[in-house]
Amino acid sequence: MAKILEAQNRLFKNMFVCKKCQTKMKADPQKILKGKVKCRKCQKKSFRPLKKK
Ligand SMILES: [Zn+2]
Repeated sequence: MAKILEAQNRLFKNMFVCKKCQTKMKADPQKILKGKVKCRKCQKKSFRPLKKK
């Protein structure tokens, strides 16, 4: 069980949602912070973590 939770945490940590079109993206948080990740749908660079609602 603990292992599953751990894996899920890691998964969610690296998941981001585009603020504009809600596309889910898996990306390195460091890259998100540096603005290096573009949404593949709308090319926007604003993302929020998947966890937060
Ligand atoms: Zn987008």
